[in-house]
Amino acid sequence: MIALNSVITCPNCGHQETEIMPDDACQYFYDCKNCSKVLKPEPGD
Ligand SMILES: [Zn+2]
Repeated sequence: MIALNSVITCPNCGHQETEIMPDDACQYFYDCKNCSKVLKPEPGD
């Protein structure tokens, strides 16, 4: 299983967190722990 550490920056509040991304990261959604906005990786990434 491949897992990558990825720093996610919330575009809403600028909060940064390091997350372990699953290898199906194109399907991965992440909710910002600071503002609760739901983030997703950039398209085509
Ligand atoms: Zn946020």
